[in-house]
Amino acid sequence: MKIGVLALQGAFEEHIVMLKKLGAETAEVRLSEQLDDLDGLIIPGGESTTIGKLMVDFDLLEPIREFGLAHAIWGTCAGAILLSKDAHREQPLLELMDITVERNAFGRQLDSFEAGLDVDFLKQATGAGDPFHAVFIRAPIIESVGADVETLISLPDGRIVAAQQGHLLATSFHPELTGDTRFHEYFLSLVGAG
Ligand code: GLN
Repeated sequence: MKIGVLALQGAFEEHIVMLKKLGAETAEVRLSEQLDDLDGLIIPGGESTTIGKLMVDFDLLEPIREFGLAHAIWGTCAGAILLSKDAHREQPLLELMDITVERNAFGRQLDSFEAGLDVDFLKQATGAGDPFHAVFIRAPIIESVGADVETLISLPDGRIVAAQQGHLLATSFHPELTGDTRFHEYFLSLVGAG
């Protein structure tokens, strides 16, 4: 299984390390040709406006959109914003997932925080459903999800921080910054199913 990580800006190296731990073949993606032999793609956290503009400059926006119609893509944080169809701002988006997001939704006081998330749904793919230690950094929330989108994780106050639409996965937080590979394993299970 070969997984690409979009490597224009942001926390792409950390994803590569996690994928390697799980034995996947990896590739840093900066050119559309590099999508050709991939089974799945991760769009990392970073700054979504910057990554979006670079995707336009590198002629990657349309190729990744097409890739996502048939292959698994996982967006973490800024990557989740890029997968959305609406972020309430003028910025390039892939518009692959029927979700709307609010950027930097946790305000100044909670700019960055950590939380133990209930991830019972990970049990089947990974064998362990104990709480996931999640790191949020100037994170978006998933404000609303369309009919075809499954909410995977909400915070106790109801705000959605992980959602899935078929082979597309969006998380507000950064599983690549923890030692816990369960989310990456879950993503690989979506890649394998596709
Ligand atoms: N705040 C960033 C944005 O809106 C996302 C932050 C992140 O990816 N950690 O693009």
